[in-house]
Amino acid sequence: MKRRILVTGGAGFLGSFLCERLLKDGHEVLCVDNFYTGSRDNLRSIAAHPNFELIRHDVCFPLYVEIDQIYNLACPASPIHYQHDPVQTTKTSVVGAINMLGLAKRTGARVLQASTSEIYGDPEVHPQTEDYWGRVNPIGRRSCYDEGKRCAETLFFDYRRQHNMPMKVARIFNTYGPRMRPDDGRVVSNFIVQALNGDPITIYGDGSQTRSFCYVDDLIEGLVKLMATSDDVTGPVNLGNPAEMTMRELAGLVIQMTGSKSEIVYKPLPSDDPRQRRPDITLAKQLLDWEPQVTPRVGLAKTIAYFGGKPANVVGVSAA
Ligand code: NAD
Ligand code: UDP
Ligand code: UDP
Repeated sequence: MKRRILVTGGAGFLGSFLCERLLKDGHEVLCVDNFYTGSRDNLRSIAAHPNFELIRHDVCFPLYVEIDQIYNLACPASPIHYQHDPVQTTKTSVVGAINMLGLAKRTGARVLQASTSEIYGDPEVHPQTEDYWGRVNPIGRRSCYDEGKRCAETLFFDYRRQHNMPMKVARIFNTYGPRMRPDDGRVVSNFIVQALNGDPITIYGDGSQTRSFCYVDDLIEGLVKLMATSDDVTGPVNLGNPAEMTMRELAGLVIQMTGSKSEIVYKPLPSDDPRQRRPDITLAKQLLDWEPQVTPRVGLAKTIAYFGGKPANVVGVSAA
């Protein structure tokens, strides 16, 4: 059935792939973005599509449109970008969620929140299951993002309890792929751009911290499947690839796959950097019949190919 679907943050890395996918599925897509980290460039392949519409708008302000579904992705996701204007980051998560929930309440739309594994903070439970409440510093440099996203989850569940609205919460773990900005600052894009430029690969800390990386196509499939579940399914549901590795292993893999001569340099570990991260995706398998199909090697090869034509400088994070 053809639906009118709003994607906030639709000009960003994940949002642009989601818009493409929804158009391919035959829907009308309304993309709302303030271009804080996203760009029109990401939407080039769909800009002229007859079922696509783009509005420049900040989700911190009310939005009156008529839609059937909302994917709420608006929020900078890379530490350097979300820490650049931390107050705006919290506002985007919290006020943005209120506005999208208000919009969903008025229109009867089903609304999905792009939450994050940062909900779990620096976790004592490994791998992370959805019933783990997390260990998050409320006053550190990452807090604007972590606590903003936690508050957004609270709002989703309170709107559900107060107004019985159809809503879903996806907890997204580190996702990578083409269209990440070369200056995005996240580890996969940093390492690839550094390796391709022959610049030193910057490992923060001793590189023994782990992350589990999901390729963008797998993630988008998970989001679409979650949105399609019946109204009694709310989540939160972890979406990510359990293929866990240390940052040293990732650096080695990128150097090997690019054939780079880059050396590795060690930089201070940013504060509150989680030690380990791996999703338990049992729930996603059960509820959505979903699990990632793209191995890190295949996903990295596609991402390296994307950046191959687009080398650029890499931006770092301050340690304190
Ligand atoms: P991104 O920075 O590429 O995309 C975010 C988009 O939101 C950008 O287009 C940006 O311009 C837009 N935006 C920011 N503030 C806005 C505002 N106030 N109003 C309107 N638009 C605004 O990041 P991404 O990786 O595509 O992440 C998309 C969503 O997924 C985010 O909510 C992020 O928290 C979540 N997420 C991503 C990951 C990941 O690894 N990529 C992991 C967990 C959660
Ligand atoms: N809102 C919006 N679009 C709508 C309906 C509401 O942006 O179509 C905003 C509205 O500005 C409000 C917020 O969503 O601040 C929350 O709406 P809700 O109805 O839950 O709360 P109330 O308006 O009663 O404060
Ligand atoms: N990191 C790194 N070098 C970089 C960028 C990041 O070693 O150039 C580390 C970072 O300290 C963290 C991990 O890689 O331990 C993942 O960082 P990213 O910013 O991609 O995601 P997040 O910390 O939000 O999971």
